[in-house]
This record gives sequence, C-alpha cells and structure tokens, in this order.
Amino acid sequence: MTVILLLFSIPQTGCGKKNLPVSAESFCFDTICSVTVYDIEDGGYEEAEKVTDEFFSLCNKYEALLSGTKEGADIYNINHAHGKSVVCDDITIDVIKRGMEYSRIFEGDFDITIGGVTKLWDFKSDRPHIPSDEDIAEALKHTGCDNIILSGNTLSMKDPLCEIDIGAIAKGYIADRAAEFLEERGVKSAVISLGGNIVCIGEKKEGRKTKEFKIGIETPYSDMRKISGVIGMSDETAVTSGVYERFFEAEGRKYHHIIDPGTGYPVQTDLLSVTVVADKGKSADCDALATICILKGRDEGKRLLQEREGFEGLFIDIQSDRYATEGFDYEKR
Ligand code: ADP
Ligand code: MG
Repeated sequence: MTVILLLFSIPQTGCGKKNLPVSAESFCFDTICSVTVYDIEDGGYEEAEKVTDEFFSLCNKYEALLSGTKEGADIYNINHAHGKSVVCDDITIDVIKRGMEYSRIFEGDFDITIGGVTKLWDFKSDRPHIPSDEDIAEALKHTGCDNIILSGNTLSMKDPLCEIDIGAIAKGYIADRAAEFLEERGVKSAVISLGGNIVCIGEKKEGRKTKEFKIGIETPYSDMRKISGVIGMSDETAVTSGVYERFFEAEGRKYHHIIDPGTGYPVQTDLLSVTVVADKGKSADCDALATICILKGRDEGKRLLQEREGFEGLFIDIQSDRYATEGFDYEKR
C-alpha cells in the first residue's frame, strides 16, 4: 500500500449518541481496504454504518466476479476455460474492455493477457520464485489482446492457453464503482482506500467545517513509516504503483511484480513509484496509467501524463529523487 490516509480520528462522545465519522476496514482483493464516511444526507451514524457494511458487501461481490484465484469468478473461469467460451457479468466485460484499451494504446508494455506469465512468478504466494527460462518463453507465446474475442457478454480466447490478469486496473475500476455507490446512497464526504487506491468524495467534514483530505505518499521501501509528500484532495482519486509493493529477493537481486511483456521478467525501470491523481471517477485510468508509467520509466511516464488532460503525477526514481508533472500540487516531506 503506497498511499497513506492521514486520518485523525475524532473521539466519540459518551452518553450513547455516536457521531460521524464511521470507519471500517476489511481484507479484500489481497489487500487492506477501508472506508470512512464523514457526512451522509438525511442520516447520521446508523445510516453511515449501514452504508459502510453495504460498501464491503459490494467489494465482496466484485471480488467474487473478478478474482483470478477464486473458483467461479469470471476471471477464474476465463483462465480455466480450455478453449470454451465464458459468459461474464457486465462488470467483468467492462473492466476487460478498459484493460484492452490501455493494452492496445501501450502495446508491448501494458498487457492484460500477461496472466500466463504473472502466474509463473506468483508474487502473491508465500514463496515466490524465479521461473525457468523455458516456462517464461512458453508462457509469452500465449499473450496478446488479439486473442480476446468478445460477443456481447460472451468471451472466448483464440488461444486457449491465453490468460487474463487485470491486477493493474481492477482495484481502480472497483474504487470508481464503490465511490458511485456511496454517492448514490447519499454520502457527501468520505474516503475510500482499496490497497492504497484512494478516492475522496467531497471534502473532509469536521464539525461544521470542511477541508481537503490529506493523503500521504509513502517513501518507497519504508514500510509505510515515512512519507515523501502530502497531497490535498477533494472529489479526486490518487493511485500509486510501486516496484516495492510486491517483490522478493533471490541471489542478491530484487524481483518485483510489474512484468515486461517483452522479456517476461520484472521490468527494468528507473522508477520506484508513481502516483497518479485525477478527478473522482477516473481511478481505473489512474491505476492503469500508474502501472504504465513504471513500465515506461520516468521521462516517458512524465510525458504521457502531461499529454493527458486532467492527469497529474509524482515520480520517485531509483535515486529517491522526486519529479512531478507541472500541475501536481503537493507538500514535500
Ligand atoms: P498493485 O497490484 O500493487 O495495485 P499495479 O496497479 O501496478 O499494482 O499492478 C501490478 C499488477 O498488474 C501485477 O501484480 C500484475 O497482476 C499485473 N501486471 C504485471 N505486469 C503487467 C503488465 N505488463 N501489463 C498489465 N498488467 C501487469
Ligand atoms: Mg495499476
């Protein structure tokens, strides 16, 4: 988790009456997810509590659809279809389409059909290891978005061995949907974190005042103990991608989880982390773009964000130097 919520809890008053905010945390999508509601229309603490419960039910529903490891999930079914077609939920089709768009634009770098390769590295397991060159070469033969054939909600793979990995975009996508859900339920001020994919709804309400949410950007490899910068956010999203988030060490080298589709190995990059910020509703884009910046490196990453209206970013390179796009407003720490 690379973006840290700087939340200072407000003590609950005694005498039974509970005050907002309501905060809840749960483990979902292989990471810690949290939601804090500061203000909700026509309701108080009880209503907010109900909505936070529903928020996690929604997260569980998305996980049951989009997991690659849970039996019965659409992505699991696609990757175990052995050439058969799979009927998927609208949500799954939508995430895949968004992932395919970025895979087409950044062909050769970003690729949601890298699943056969990421499966070999298995960064989520307790003991990830370096796969054999033969296995990597074989898995690389079965990648490429041209394999995906969509007809309505039915997906089939031209190459039955091609596997999908939406890990680089799914949490951002879900964060967008979860924020929409909270707003539909009348939430006026809240912050969501799905493993550091942050969405802020409104501003932070404290008593009668509101002010920007303060979000800390983690110093890479600091185990969330140090912050490299603080950003003020309202109705915005921030997503960080970093090579230190999932990695293991072997033979004196670090192997991280963002894979170069050209080699099948962790990409050689001059970056440790990238944080991409945009307006609320664009968390899926921020998620994909943050990963793409790691794949492209500092200068090209900065250029591609600069070219995209409404996206700003902060880059921390391997020298631990910070570079920001022109409009990225933050407090250095
Ligand atoms: P996090 O998983 O920490 O949110 P990212 O958003 O940067 O981090 O996504 C990294 C994940 O994306 C990997 O764990 C893997 O599932 C997937 N992935 C790895 N390499 C690529 C790639 N070249 N293109 C698309 N997805 C990738
Ligand atoms: Mg990403």
